[in-house]
Order: sequence, then structure tokens, then C-alpha cells
Amino acid sequence: MVTAYRRHEARCKYAKKKKYPEPRKHKDCTCPVHMDGFLTTPSGEKIVMRGSLDTRNWEHGRIKLNAMIEPYLRGEPVLRDITVEDAINKFLATKRTDIPARTDIGGESDSVTAFRERNGRKADDEQDQVRKYRDVLTPLKAFCLQNGLVLLKQITVDHLDEFRSAWKGRPTYRNGKIVDHKKKTQGGKQRYQQNLTIFFNHAVDREWILKNPASKLTKIIVPDSVINPFTPKEWTDTLDSIEPTFPKIHKMVRAISDTVLAILILKESALRIGDVVKLRPEDITPTGEIEIETQKTASVPKV
Ligand SMILES: [Zn+2]
Repeated sequence: MVTAYRRHEARCKYAKKKKYPEPRKHKDCTCPVHMDGFLTTPSGEKIVMRGSLDTRNWEHGRIKLNAMIEPYLRGEPVLRDITVEDAINKFLATKRTDIPARTDIGGESDSVTAFRERNGRKADDEQDQVRKYRDVLTPLKAFCLQNGLVLLKQITVDHLDEFRSAWKGRPTYRNGKIVDHKKKTQGGKQRYQQNLTIFFNHAVDREWILKNPASKLTKIIVPDSVINPFTPKEWTDTLDSIEPTFPKIHKMVRAISDTVLAILILKESALRIGDVVKLRPEDITPTGEIEIETQKTASVPKV
């Protein structure tokens, strides 16, 4: 028999031996849960089990202990089952090592700096590639905690279905506080699900679990995108925010003509910003068409 008990800390009232002569009988506190006892395997081997269950939650301790005992009783070799939290932490640590830091990109562009200054945001030190996994795994951890799922192997397809239905989109802010969330787009859901599947595949590869519960989730359908042209108001807003957002380009463009004109050229010609900035009078034909070789395609757009 192996039993779970609370190993009372000195500050706990049950640690007073005189008043409570049998401290192991009391569990209505938050002291760490330990196990003590032994079991006998089908082959007659006696195994002593003693030590911490790494939790202060009584129910979680019981689940962990059962998970440890079961394979012994079936005569299988025992691996201490991995918890959801451990699995996620290990996976993210591996990804942080796998994915090189993005030093290839170089410094932050003027527009990004201007945007961050206006929004009071700092540059991220974590690679985007790792963050995209954390975006879906942090809510998974919270979901498991709420639903009493301690061990990774306890997570079923049904749990993931429920988890999936609770995904939220971008937060909406009022006075700097999150007041609500937008609905998550189908594309966003699809990316979350892909990253979730990658995490569980990793868990199967490492033999933390036997099957990938995420692989049985139904496919998320992304509707074909509908193109909504900018409204006149969106155009005005775009023109108004050129100067604060692209100070450097704004200056360059002013040197040639007028920003608004340049943006109209951008709009009408679908040229790249860099090409519009470099436009010269001789690039415009007598019929009013623009004739240049663009940086990317060397094609000749006509306006
Ligand atoms: Zn206690």
C-alpha cells in the first residue's frame, strides 16, 4: 500500500505534535503532498515509494500517485509520468535552443521604432518562432489547471475540442485595459491548431505520451479571403499617418514632390515604396504613363 499524506511545514498548525499526535491524518492545509509505502509487483518484487509528489494540491497528488502505481501493478517498466507544465516548459526550452536568435535582420527600422515609441511598446527579446508556440501553450496550461488535468497523458481529444472552442482573438483595449476580445479568425485558429499539433508530436517523439490527441481534431476551414477595397476615410487616415510612421521616407519623398502625390502614385501604380521614391520626371512618358524597371520584377507598370 502506498498512501499520500501532507508533510506539514513548521508554520502549519498540524506540525505541533502535542496537539496533533497523528499529523498524517490531517490534510486540510496547503503543505506539500508526499507518498509513503511500498507495493508488490506481479513478479513478487517489493518496491518502496517515498518522497514528494511535487504538488500542494491534494487531488493532483492523488492523480500523480495513481499514475505512478498503475504500471507497477501491470508489471510494466515505470517512467514517472510527465506533467502538462513540465512538458510545456521542456518543449519551449528545446525550441529556444533549436531556433537561432534572429541576428540576420539587423537593426529596427525607423518606422518600427516610431510605431513602438507611439505605442509605448518595447522590442521583444524572444524569437517570434518560440512566441507563437507560447501563445497557444500558455492558455493550454491554464485550461488544464482549471480542468484538473495534471498529467500530459490525461489530455484527450474531447478536452482539446473544448479548449479550442474557448480560443479568443486580439484583445480590445479601453483606457489601457483589456475590456474584451475579438473573435478569433479561422486563420488564427488554424495556426493555433498547427502549433498545438507540433507540441503534441514532440511529446510523442520524446515518448512522454503514446498518442497525439491533437492529430484527431477536425480540420479548421479557412474561408477564401474577400478583398475589401479601402474606403475614402481609410485613405485619408492612411495619408494622415504617413509622416509620424515613416519619418525618413516622408522626408525623402518631400524632397522630390509631395507625399500625398507619392501615395496616390503608390495607390494607382501598385509600385513599391522604394521605386516611387526614386521616380524621375523622365520616367513619365508623354502619354502620362510611368515606365521604369522595378526593383523586384523589372517589369514595366503603366499608369
Ligand atoms: Zn500542514
